[in-house]
Amino acid sequence: MKSYNIDENGFYGEFGGAFVPEVLYKCTEELRCSYRDILESDAFQQEFRNLLNDYVGRPSPLYEARHLSELYHARIFLKREDLNHTGAHKINNALGQILLARAMGKTRIIAETGAGQHGVATATVCALMGMPCTVYMGETDIRRQMPNVERMKMLGATVSPVTSGNMTLKDAVNEAIRDWCCHPRDTFYIMGSAVGPHPYPDIVARLQSIISEEILMQLQAKIGRNYPDYLMACVGGGSNAIGTFYHYLDNEKVHLIAAEAGGKGCDTPFTAATIHCGTTGILHGSRTLILQTPDGQVIEPYSISAGLDYPGIGPVHAHLASTGRATIYSINDDEAVRAAYELTRLEGIIPAMESAHILAVLPKMELSEDDVVVITVSGRGDKDMKSFLDNKPF
Ligand SMILES: *Cc1c(COP(=O)(O)O)cnc(C)c1O
Repeated sequence: MKSYNIDENGFYGEFGGAFVPEVLYKCTEELRCSYRDILESDAFQQEFRNLLNDYVGRPSPLYEARHLSELYHARIFLKREDLNHTGAHKINNALGQILLARAMGKTRIIAETGAGQHGVATATVCALMGMPCTVYMGETDIRRQMPNVERMKMLGATVSPVTSGNMTLKDAVNEAIRDWCCHPRDTFYIMGSAVGPHPYPDIVARLQSIISEEILMQLQAKIGRNYPDYLMACVGGGSNAIGTFYHYLDNEKVHLIAAEAGGKGCDTPFTAATIHCGTTGILHGSRTLILQTPDGQVIEPYSISAGLDYPGIGPVHAHLASTGRATIYSINDDEAVRAAYELTRLEGIIPAMESAHILAVLPKMELSEDDVVVITVSGRGDKDMKSFLDNKPF
């Protein structure tokens, strides 16, 4: 059987791998040699699952959205990652990685953040575990995302401003990698999405796979069948999407649907639609699709959603798209905002701007009454109130 999962060399088809400088080789090797044994150990699994239940609040509900179902003439369920502690799926990953760090004997945590969501999740688990935490964040993003900066500080993290490049996410990643190079012995780098050099994409996929593990059980209980016809999630780097797809990758009866951020449109310079507009290259240690100029300069991405404007994409999604296993839609800002208002008014759920991108795919699909659709709502929209009100579609 064809597998869409990672191979023994850390590749998904032609994508992935670990393209790291000499100084980082030891760090990624140490991680590569230990992560599977630790993640699969009883001690890890027991503590991870206890904390997912009692600290994060899992399992997250699978909610049958009746009004949305009526509108789109299908049976639509929402996987409610927005109800997790700290308001999104990112906490699943941050929690798993800090337990991995501790098992490896690491005593200091670093991370990068763009919108601040991954920084907050990391600062949260560092407070929980009593570990010192430095979060790299571009100056531009610090100005744009002050509430999250303040949350990180209250949680006890050091927020380190990055002033190189455009002073956004890509520059923060570079700075975090530089720190890791200088402190390889005691420091663990908590990666925020299914990106970066092998084994990070696989670590993040395994930790987020709790989402699809729960969907299997919840669907079985609700409809007497453990798989849907359509499984849908938004893609920034791809962590909530691979978590949603993980246990269904090889079940070809399930259509996998993802949405990336089209920004102002794929045919404009203001986009983050990496799969539609990107070309193959190497970014942050991984061979993947990248928004870049013909001579390989990374293009600054744009999206109304701060969590989706990464110039690359997790290698697994580049592979799922290029093999045709997944169908990827590019959703523009205005379509996402409209979908967020629709969900809010129909179901009383304000989704994150990121999650609104996958909801906006519904009107583009041809569904029939007996289709079962599961959509992951990756986070809640409290953080996006200003964008929603400034861009009201009516
Ligand atoms: C960060 C974020 C995303 C995008 O990240 P992925 O790794 O692609 O999941 C999506 N939704 C929310 C709510 C986020 O905070």
